[in-house]
Amino acid sequence: MDDTCHFAPGERVCVLTTQPLDRMLDYRAPEGGCVTGAFVECSLGPRLVLGVVWGPGEGGFDAAKLRPIARVLDVPPMRDEMREFLTRAAAYTVTPMSSMLRLATRSPGLGNPQSMRRLYQRGGAEPDRMTDARARVLDALDEYAGMPVTQSELSEAAGVTPSVVKGLVKLGAVIEVEAPRDSAYPRLDPHLPGPELTEDQTTAAGALTAGVASQDYGTTLLRGVTGSGKTEVYMEAVAACLAQGRQALVLLPEIALTAEFLTRVEARFGARPAEWHSGVTMTERRRCWRMVAEGGAQLVVGARSALFLPFQHLGLIIVDEEHDTSYKQEDGVLYNARDMAVLRASILGAQVVLASATPSLESWANAEAGKYARLTLAERFGPAILPEMRAIDMRVEDLPGSRWISPTLQRAVTDRIRKGEQSLLFLNRRGYAPVTICRACGHQIGCDHCDARMVEHRFLKRLVCHQCGETKPMPTVCPECEVEDKLAPVGPGVERLAEEVAGLFPDARLAVLSSDLFGSARALKAAIVQIAEGGADIIIGTQLVAKGHNFPKLTLVGVIDADLGLQGSDLRAAERTFQLMRQVAGRAGRVEQPGEALLQTFQPEHPVIRAILSGAEEPFWKAEADERRHAGVPPYGRLAGIVLSAPDVQQVFDIGAALARADGPLRRIGAQVYGPAPAPIARIRGRHRVRLLVKADKAAPLQAALIDWVAQVKLPTNLRLSIDIDPQSFY
Ligand code: ADP
Ligand code: ZN
Repeated sequence: MDDTCHFAPGERVCVLTTQPLDRMLDYRAPEGGCVTGAFVECSLGPRLVLGVVWGPGEGGFDAAKLRPIARVLDVPPMRDEMREFLTRAAAYTVTPMSSMLRLATRSPGLGNPQSMRRLYQRGGAEPDRMTDARARVLDALDEYAGMPVTQSELSEAAGVTPSVVKGLVKLGAVIEVEAPRDSAYPRLDPHLPGPELTEDQTTAAGALTAGVASQDYGTTLLRGVTGSGKTEVYMEAVAACLAQGRQALVLLPEIALTAEFLTRVEARFGARPAEWHSGVTMTERRRCWRMVAEGGAQLVVGARSALFLPFQHLGLIIVDEEHDTSYKQEDGVLYNARDMAVLRASILGAQVVLASATPSLESWANAEAGKYARLTLAERFGPAILPEMRAIDMRVEDLPGSRWISPTLQRAVTDRIRKGEQSLLFLNRRGYAPVTICRACGHQIGCDHCDARMVEHRFLKRLVCHQCGETKPMPTVCPECEVEDKLAPVGPGVERLAEEVAGLFPDARLAVLSSDLFGSARALKAAIVQIAEGGADIIIGTQLVAKGHNFPKLTLVGVIDADLGLQGSDLRAAERTFQLMRQVAGRAGRVEQPGEALLQTFQPEHPVIRAILSGAEEPFWKAEADERRHAGVPPYGRLAGIVLSAPDVQQVFDIGAALARADGPLRRIGAQVYGPAPAPIARIRGRHRVRLLVKADKAAPLQAALIDWVAQVKLPTNLRLSIDIDPQSFY
């Protein structure tokens, strides 16, 4: 798509707006003209809306009646490459273009002109009288080595009130300068030396930098056990890319990981990169978006949506922990950032590195098929060795009811405490107890709006619905039979496990790491740092801890319920359990002491549990691949999930049935439709949900058929239909 045009004032152009319309709108080019890709504001009814000039107008509408574009925004036009990316991503995910454009313009105040702000610098004059406070201000400015800083940064760094700074300005010892609010990020120096790499690491880094040097598209799956140096290796590729003057993007699955990563980048390249995720302030987001577009940001570290930033010259995308399910966006535009990264890179002629200790079966299969290159780091860096893994057979453990730590696991923890080492108890369930039951009538407390049981959170002193977030105070009387004081928790969550630990190990220092227990990413990060430094003997964690934090003193991992993920009908249950258990176990024994991982299970003979214990990865992937191939499901076949939801249960089933009957367009491509069936969570926020599943051959033109199929049935306005290509979860 290389068709940048200049449009003369008054010429007819078509504009894609962020409004949910199913077409583009024609306008006249404004005074001064515009180019394809220009970000503009134009009037739609009484409002001004954001849009992008997409090309010449379509005609069909009296040109004289067209309204002119109201304003061309002061940001670089959207590049052809980005327009092609959005177009193809929209087609793949069956998403309206307006929604794609919203993803690509998530910068607050995009339309506002660059505002200026006042900064402070050292002036030539010396103050007539030097006070302590004044000296601290001047020292602080010397620390910034000539870089202008804001008033608040300066007063904070010097520990003085703003009036001290103002006084120095009057004396000419400090001067005020005006600077654009959005400034370029400090330069990263790609030529600073990295660590000396091992032989394996050198080979892998060489292959990645050669890819970057080619300036061509390519995807590489970088596999390596946790701690093998994957990050060090891909940093070399980042260095090569920056040295070429191109930009790089590193995607991380978890905001809590970025802080640690930023520090690593600073140590490697001498400055911090740009950051893009939901925890970043509005001002910083705006700066990031603009600087990425103008080339004032060389490296961005971010969450999946960073993929839609307006890079000027992107050469490399790293997807770290590529198997992680958080790369799939599950509401709004349903896209998988890993797959979209590959799409964007293929359009750009850029490289993608997918890094993981436990790749997704999709990426494994693509590497097997030769579509992706494969690099493997077989060993951990330095003396750290992989933990020994064993099952604890819960059928023979002597454990009273409402207790979850087996005597065997208890002994192992005691042993660690004695040696001054850390233990991690892993349970992937937030809250106190997953179910609250009435011992008088058997009633289980559910959410009023969803078909889900409410989870007790003692920490919050409330019941919480993990579907819709609804909370209510813990009742003392059963809402069903009205008997008092008979409500009891069933099953464990991390908070309840914490109680058990406190009882079993009264003298141990305990830390609970669960996303809902921290008010902010910053608080969570602080807790992680403190734990890493040895601030806890026992850590209780949800899957949050599985993701790449370093706890050097950790030598024991106890998995409370290794069977948890194996229940349910999810196509990826085995794969997920395998990945999660291996990731968690990988937390143990990272430095000198060897680690041990103990898995509590009621089914030690289960093939997945056995594969986890033996560490035989290739056989596990091969067996799992065979099963999927046999069933014709991803990655060997294609799936699309359709969810219909409406307040009226009969209506949603009727429409579902009508869709299933009208399956002509699907049959024409050899696809089958299953359902309608109640979705596993049959009601969310008061809306009843019905699911259909479409299964097709890998090569079938699925998206086009889905569009034809859905278009046949007229949908009532209060009914929502969402199409999920390559669904990851089946709720
Ligand atoms: P991974 O990304 O595979 O988990 P990392 O790159 O984070 O592995 O490496 C694990 C630890 O080992 C990090 O602290 C890293 O700095 C260190 N490390 C890895 N390779 C080297 C090396 N060649 N020289 C020095 N330290 C290294
Ligand atoms: Zn709910």
